[in-house]
Amino acid sequence: MNCETVGLIGQTVVLKGWVHGRRDMGKLGFIDLRDRSGLVQVVLVPAELSERGKEAMKELRSEYCVMIEGVVQKRGEKQVNNDLPTGMVEVLAKDVEILNAAKTPPFDVTADTSPINEEVRLKYRYLDLRSERLQKNLQLRNAFIQGCRNFLLAEKFIEIETPYLTKATPEGSRDFVVPARLQPGKFFALPQSPQQYKQLLMVAGFERYFQLARAFRDEDPRADRGFEHTQVDIEMSFVDQEDVMHHVEAMITQTVESLGYTIKQKPFPRITYAESMAKYGADKFDLRTEEEKKRGILAYAWVVDFPFFEKTEDGGWTFTHNPFSMPKPEFLADHLAGGNVENILTTQYDLVCNGYESGGGSIRAHDPEILKATYKIMGYSDDEIEQSVGHMLEAFGYGTPPHGGIALGVERNIMNLTGESYLREVQAFPMTGSANTAVMDAPSELPKKTLDELGLSIKK
Ligand code: ASP
Repeated sequence: MNCETVGLIGQTVVLKGWVHGRRDMGKLGFIDLRDRSGLVQVVLVPAELSERGKEAMKELRSEYCVMIEGVVQKRGEKQVNNDLPTGMVEVLAKDVEILNAAKTPPFDVTADTSPINEEVRLKYRYLDLRSERLQKNLQLRNAFIQGCRNFLLAEKFIEIETPYLTKATPEGSRDFVVPARLQPGKFFALPQSPQQYKQLLMVAGFERYFQLARAFRDEDPRADRGFEHTQVDIEMSFVDQEDVMHHVEAMITQTVESLGYTIKQKPFPRITYAESMAKYGADKFDLRTEEEKKRGILAYAWVVDFPFFEKTEDGGWTFTHNPFSMPKPEFLADHLAGGNVENILTTQYDLVCNGYESGGGSIRAHDPEILKATYKIMGYSDDEIEQSVGHMLEAFGYGTPPHGGIALGVERNIMNLTGESYLREVQAFPMTGSANTAVMDAPSELPKKTLDELGLSIKK
């Protein structure tokens, strides 16, 4: 509402928001009133104010939540504040109601909070989120997500939620587990990705699926990685690698360009894993010049032709990216025969942007024999294969369409858009560096009664 005042000169308005700052000049008082749209200057003149307004004027301090009724006035030429979008107007208050007082905040939310101690910022995250930078980051996150969603809906994708209480998956990192009260001694796992469910939705005939999915991985937290993150998760039937890459590229291009960003090169350049390793020594890289970095340019690129397998410490094989992937067609015979393993390439494609991996996916092995061969190469016995992916092999026996997909990390993408280098700056309630929740003090101990109900005892 604050920002609308510029169009309402001469009119009476009712504004609700927070006292961003207050200045007193003799009998006159000024407050910068903040709401989600921004700031507007309010003038407090006792003679103009209601009785309760006069009382309120004495009490108002930073971060008080208030209602102000007043008349929008054009400011004199010398009074115009060019730093504010509402700088050509001010609101002459007629009435002020204190909706809620505020204690003195533990840090100044009207300044850049990034230098403030992280534990303090996260303990009072709801105050940190009042700061301009975090308000903007979350607005941008919302705009990016809505951009992707609008594109996908227009392309006839359907948004479907998949379970959070699920089975441990062989997808690379440690699972978070949840004890099952009704089956003591058994556990659910939180999904590291909706990989298997989204493939089952292709078996089910939905053809084009997406989800803003939360993924949970019990890894040591790092600057660009937390216990949970969100991904734009996509799966499509009757497609090849080109189709998926084409759709994702169009979605990203439309979304970020509509937000005002410039993409360095279109179509996105492509490089093979081998070339990338030879040229950059890594499978992610930053193609921007110093000057482009300053201008906030986005340099996307695809990396393709990854090796399917890599050696394990004990001399066996494990997958590099995704066990559900299809090998490249020219390696299918090797794959099925379990030979030439070190040279088998997979249909994996990674999207890189400004030095980060911003997404990755593949065409899937929709034929049960191919998926089985992947697990054989990784040294699984028939029993172990059944245990681990028997349900997928069974499902793939019922007319499963060729399919493939991708997941884009929302936080990584927003980090690129905002230039932030920490994941926590683009999440509303991130974990602290020592892996505790913001505001609420978790993880925490459970009462004995709860442990008993779950059939658990804690080793001291
Ligand atoms: N499941 C993969 C991941 O979460 C993405 C995909 O292949 O669709 O990284």
